[in-house]
Amino acid sequence: MLKLVNITKDYTVADTKVHALKGISISFRSNEFVSILGPSGCGKTTLLNIIGGLDHYTSGDLYIDTISTKEFNDRDWDTYRNHRIGFIFQSYNLIPHQSILENVELALTISGMGKEERILKAKEALDKVGLKDQYNKKPNQLSGGQCQRVAIARALVNEPEILLADEPTGALDTKTSLQIMELIQEISKERLVIMVTHNPEIAQKYSTRIVSLLDGNIISDTNPYDEKAKTTTPKVIDKKSKLSFWTAFKLSARNLRSKFKRTLMVCIAGSIGIIGVASVLSVSTGVRSYIDGMQEDMLSGNPIRINEEAMNLELMMSSMDQSVQKDAIKKATEDGYINVDYMIDYLVSKSGENNSFRIKNDITEDYLAFVNNMPSEYYSTITSYYGINITNNIYTNIKLFEDNTLKNKSMSLSAIKKAYTAMLNETDIKEYSSLISTLADTFSQSVSNVDFISSQYDIISNKETSKIATEENEIMIVVDEDSGLTDLLLAQLGYYTQEEFFNVIYKAIKSPRYNPALDKGKFSYDELLNKTFTYYPNDVVFNKAKENSPFVKINPFSYNPESFSFWENRYDLKITAILRPKKNISYGCLTSGIYYTPQFTQKVIQDNVESEIVSYFKENNIESYTSGTMANSSQEQSINFGITYLYSFEFEEKKFENVVGFVGGTSSLSALFGAMTGEKKDYYTLTLREIGGCTLPNTISIYPKDFSYKENVTSYLNTWNSSKDIEVNGKILKAEDRNDITYSDNLAVMINMINSMIDIVTIALVTFTALSLVVSTVMIAIITYVSVIERIKEIGVIRSLGGRKKDVSHLFNAETFIIGGLSGLIGIGITYLLSGIANLIVSKAANISAIAILPIPTAIIMVVISILLTSISGVIPARIASKKDPVDALRTE
Ligand code: ADP
Ligand code: MG
Repeated sequence: MLKLVNITKDYTVADTKVHALKGISISFRSNEFVSILGPSGCGKTTLLNIIGGLDHYTSGDLYIDTISTKEFNDRDWDTYRNHRIGFIFQSYNLIPHQSILENVELALTISGMGKEERILKAKEALDKVGLKDQYNKKPNQLSGGQCQRVAIARALVNEPEILLADEPTGALDTKTSLQIMELIQEISKERLVIMVTHNPEIAQKYSTRIVSLLDGNIISDTNPYDEKAKTTTPKVIDKKSKLSFWTAFKLSARNLRSKFKRTLMVCIAGSIGIIGVASVLSVSTGVRSYIDGMQEDMLSGNPIRINEEAMNLELMMSSMDQSVQKDAIKKATEDGYINVDYMIDYLVSKSGENNSFRIKNDITEDYLAFVNNMPSEYYSTITSYYGINITNNIYTNIKLFEDNTLKNKSMSLSAIKKAYTAMLNETDIKEYSSLISTLADTFSQSVSNVDFISSQYDIISNKETSKIATEENEIMIVVDEDSGLTDLLLAQLGYYTQEEFFNVIYKAIKSPRYNPALDKGKFSYDELLNKTFTYYPNDVVFNKAKENSPFVKINPFSYNPESFSFWENRYDLKITAILRPKKNISYGCLTSGIYYTPQFTQKVIQDNVESEIVSYFKENNIESYTSGTMANSSQEQSINFGITYLYSFEFEEKKFENVVGFVGGTSSLSALFGAMTGEKKDYYTLTLREIGGCTLPNTISIYPKDFSYKENVTSYLNTWNSSKDIEVNGKILKAEDRNDITYSDNLAVMINMINSMIDIVTIALVTFTALSLVVSTVMIAIITYVSVIERIKEIGVIRSLGGRKKDVSHLFNAETFIIGGLSGLIGIGITYLLSGIANLIVSKAANISAIAILPIPTAIIMVVISILLTSISGVIPARIASKKDPVDALRTE
């Protein structure tokens, strides 16, 4: 069955050759019990390993069933070992972390047998060696004799034709030795057993043939045999041993589980890099989605606007980059000299661009028609604003002091503002007085789509009698989300009496005049609703100076700050509702204040476009009319010029009679400046637009239907600037007749800037945290290598059982795969946990729903990256493992 012809084996140790076998020729019968006897170091183990295909001979030939093995490759040897050879070793070589059943199963696992059959066969083999019902014990729970029985069961489970035993009783006491020998003798009845021993008595007692070895040569053979003719038909070795990756996976999982704590620690360490990167991505996604959400929320408060005049925010942002300027002015650098930076050159080249920071748009009838022609599914509303300052024309009742008692007066909103500002100037906090005028308009035009308003606002006043203002004479009050209105706003609208308003101020400045009884912290809905605001056209409120008046040049018009019942053209505005933003709306299209309808705007323009004051402005080509105080040096007194009025007020028992007021606003910038320096400059301007003199809007606001339609809107607007002809309502507008119009989408500009900042920070942080990924990859490579060293015996066993090199590398690759997967999962799990905690904290602190969001695809990618990295790190140790010489591996103790 086996025939060795002139087999030699040389080992090279440090340049000297050790001749372990020196030409062995011997044949074995297919059924006999051969003992190989000889002193230590004579080559017994070497011979056995060569017979078993674990080691390869240097020269000669080994015939298996008369087939020469000269041409055998690794896989042939593996298959030979797996199917025909069973090995038993002196030191049992059981795998310590597997149960004895699993140890026996291993041989079958390697040959690719299914699980159920495997368990059945393994149990049978264990039963045969007398280990029934011990299946689940670990090797360290058994005695030496029992361990050797397990090893025998493992050797026999594949039903090999040849059993090779290398000093099987060497580590056992005499009594146990005899039991094991009887077992082996029993086994030898059905197959060829070749046993190495240095115990002649055992050899004598049990074997049928004794071969003595000395220094690599056979010196005697008690029952020689010469295989000459073919005694058996050669078996074709067709069954290839195989260990699937899945089986390797399960074996590795079992190994890792047996070292649970260590595996856990490795995985946690490996997960740190993943946690780092995933957390950065989570926060970046969270912040981005928060900003996206904010952008959508803010959309209804930040429409796309076409302004007659605006700042080009986008250009300003991009020009803020100082390095661009530095590069532009630096022409040469030469050491040892002072180099000229060409600033003038730069400024000249930039002057054109600087101009373009200001957007100037010419809004024409055609453009208005073009905008209104936009497909209606793109937008919720398009609203035009005409820049009217209605506060000079709206009058309301207010209780002010006169002769030390509160008297009802009907004053214009602009006059109330002026009077209160003047009074504030008498207090300790006069530096804040001019701030009143910088506050947003309290009486302004609403958007034109009622559904759009009702989608964002709830009516909180009596539902049955209330409605959103739609008619020319209807107005509505908008409060903030907590149903609040500021004291300043309420005062300007005449809701506070003078006494009540100043009580608020006394409270603020902790004045002894503060009277808690006068505190007015809340208003009933009816109090707000039951107030009349009356509109009078320009010709009623502005009076032209008489032609023969001496002041007609410097005071062409006067203004009536108070209205009287005998006035004609009275037009009452009715408050129809109090609106409050819906809960989920953080940025609505209307801020707190009173709103009138676009229809009312049209009425105001119609009423006033031909009024005397408008005509005066137009005739004199006045766009913006200035009023103020002029010092007259010759008479050493000042003269008031422009549109003026006189009013009186009482403040803290002091009477201020015939105070001069001017019509018009101060620019908020100069008011702020005045507030800071404490210097007051009385200049007021009134524009043609403010008095209703322009029939074309100066601002068009387009509210896209939702965020997804924004691009439709902007691309529609862009067609105006294209070179194509545009048809609007049947009229062809040629490209050369159209002036370019620039819309402002300031929201997008800001968001883009924020997003690109997030990008930069994310990239920087990911790069930084990725370093820890590299560290953990190296660490896992080291740990896998340590594991290879630790499991070297196991590698030997697997190879001796017929496992391929590939099987061994599979085993370690599976291990790193599992570690990578677990690390990734732990990392992702911890990241989700941290994200959750972060979100909880943030939501408590800042009412933001989520600041850290790790999308599931990103999480999956992170796990895959973890698996990939650890797998790559495991490749080299796994290769090292598979390359291990099984003989060396088994010799290792
Ligand atoms: P035995 O089993 O009879 O005690 P071995 O077969 O183990 O002897 O060894 C035979 C000879 O070969 C010894 O001199 C031993 O030192 C040498 N030898 C065995 N394996 C190796 C090896 N891997 N490298 C070098 N020398 C070896
Ligand atoms: Mg030996």
